[in-house]
Amino acid sequence: MEKEKTENACLSCGGSCCRYIAIEIDRPATKTQCDHIRWYLLHENVHVFLEHDNKWYVEFRTPCEKLDENGLCSIHQSKTRPKICKNHGEEEGSCEFYDSPYKLYFSTVKEFETYLDNQGKEWRWKVKNC
Ligand code: SF4
Ligand code: SF4
Repeated sequence: MEKEKTENACLSCGGSCCRYIAIEIDRPATKTQCDHIRWYLLHENVHVFLEHDNKWYVEFRTPCEKLDENGLCSIHQSKTRPKICKNHGEEEGSCEFYDSPYKLYFSTVKEFETYLDNQGKEWRWKVKNC
């Protein structure tokens, strides 16, 4: 459900967008691509998601060192603040505070394997007998 829009959304949000990084990855079309995502998800604090625009991302849950104890950016007014941060949530309602950006979200390898099975995808490698 969409939240009420406020002038100081970042103040009440607690810095949701500053607590992870996300890197775009290949969609899991081949066995190798599925295998890579399974490998990511076997690691602690690593998640994978699909955005509404159908781009896949690996997410590392780790807070930015510039996030202060109030959940605000300590370099907000600085020229050194990364441009990617400045652009995030620039348009009203375009950040995760307002609405979930996730079409799919996987926290565990089991969740992802169940998704692949439900999609009828062949992700298991054949084991060679000696
Ligand atoms: S840009 Fe959005 S997600 Fe980031 S701190 Fe502000 S309200 Fe929260
Ligand atoms: S530099 Fe500031 S806005 Fe960017 S992730 Fe870190 S705390 Fe958030």
